[in-house]
Amino acid sequence: MTGIDDLPIRDELRGKTPYGAPQLDVPVQLNTNENPYELPAALVARIAERVAEAARTLNRYPDRDAVELRTQLAAYLTRTGKHPVARENVWAANGSNEVIQQLLQTFGGPGRTALGFEPSYSMHALISRGTGTGWISGPRREDFTIDVEAAEQAIAENAPDVVFITSPNNPTGTAVEAETVLALYEAAQAAKPSLVIVDEAYVEFSHRDSLLPLIEGRPNMVVSRTMSKAFGAAGLRLGYLAAHPAVVDAVQLVRLPYH
Ligand SMILES: *Cc1c(COP(=O)(O)O)cnc(C)c1O
Repeated sequence: MTGIDDLPIRDELRGKTPYGAPQLDVPVQLNTNENPYELPAALVARIAERVAEAARTLNRYPDRDAVELRTQLAAYLTRTGKHPVARENVWAANGSNEVIQQLLQTFGGPGRTALGFEPSYSMHALISRGTGTGWISGPRREDFTIDVEAAEQAIAENAPDVVFITSPNNPTGTAVEAETVLALYEAAQAAKPSLVIVDEAYVEFSHRDSLLPLIEGRPNMVVSRTMSKAFGAAGLRLGYLAAHPAVVDAVQLVRLPYH
């Protein structure tokens, strides 16, 4: 019988298995961190209304630049992130997984590497692999905090093209101090310079402020967000990033039109 490995697939995919958080039929699915409650009826009705309106124009491609969506997301970030963000700073995609994929397609790729401090979100390594980006597992302390000196050393030694910082971290819940992020950003700029992706999928649950204001004056820093966790809308597949407008322009080089 023909299996995957009998096909002429890329060598680095041989013998690998897909992302596998099991989808179980149980009331509380902690492994994928979904909200166990359905959307409120009023919201479901409003979505149905808007889908009916949108259905009339499905003969046309959608707005490629998602201007209205990005404007609304920028307004949300400005309201909650203690930092003014404009539409030009925001890019949205099918979940923050796609945002991360587009960033790695743009800033990673064959011959390049990405570094993350493990244990952390396993998709960072998987999307790196999928985009042909080499993966480097960076150090973390026993208590799951980031040891700044050890992290700086790992960055200096490996000079990665992309550095992932997840705050609060998945699966450990540990938030990262702004000073730590700044120190790692400086180390990453000195070593390469490289793109620093701050994954804030869980930030709305945190007692700490968002790291969003750190993008100011730092064009190589990106904050990624999602509707999947705090908004209980994992099925919506909406993730987004905030960064310097040049980063938003850069991901246009790899994004599929009308995604
Ligand atoms: C759940 C999660 C995501 C979300 O991915 P989506 O594609 O937006 O659903 C991203 N990063 C981390 C750290 C997560 O835990």
